[in-house]
Amino acid sequence: MSQKYLKFQILLALFQICDRFFLFIFILSILSIPLRVNEIFYSLQGESTFAGLPCVFIRLSGCSLHCIYCDTRYAEDEPGRALDIESILNETGEFGCKLVEVTGGEPLEAEGAPELLNALVGKGYSVLLETNGTLPLRGIPREVTIIMDIKCPSSGFSNKVHWANLEALAPKDEIKFVISDENDYQWAARILEKHSLSQRHAVLFSPAFPALRPQSLAEWILRDRLSVRLQLQIHRIIWGEKKRGV
Ligand code: SF4
Repeated sequence: MSQKYLKFQILLALFQICDRFFLFIFILSILSIPLRVNEIFYSLQGESTFAGLPCVFIRLSGCSLHCIYCDTRYAEDEPGRALDIESILNETGEFGCKLVEVTGGEPLEAEGAPELLNALVGKGYSVLLETNGTLPLRGIPREVTIIMDIKCPSSGFSNKVHWANLEALAPKDEIKFVISDENDYQWAARILEKHSLSQRHAVLFSPAFPALRPQSLAEWILRDRLSVRLQLQIHRIIWGEKKRGV
């Protein structure tokens, strides 16, 4: 073996060791990103086409919107616990359930949310992400099912919808409108038609509680022959509106 070749081999080995070392440090740094976690709990999925299935919920803290009908204001107001991804995975694993939803607050406001989603997918979970639709869908693994809100006028934030997200969604992803009155309903129906949403995704029309009676929304949907799913929050029906962690 020539000296030149030997030196080359030694250099190559050093590069490989360094590469692995930096990869190791990189993985460690990802796993140690702290996120503000409001709560992690096990319940029945109350919304989306997954409604009724047992599910672990990871609720991240913080949301910069303040929708009038928000039912998780505590996730905006409370600071939550700072947990790294490994700790979140450990707590999630304790429930022995393979369906997990990352929600909020607004989870995409948290730095490290894409890494958390990646880590959950890597552990073999079926992962749902609930997002308010005002932030770009960047860095989200394609295995994740995205349930994206389109904010209606009565929320006060329909001008914040990040419309480019519609092109980033996959057919398996779902779109949700929370509807407070007939004006919201008419607006949602126009958006539905303009973007052919029913042809592309499961679309959920959810009555805002207590502003709109489910019966009214049901009758409008039937009257106008809309191809959407009326969504009632079944966790609320079962446990009532005030109970947390369900
Ligand atoms: S976007 Fe969601 S979490 Fe944020 S205020 Fe509105 S309803 Fe609440």
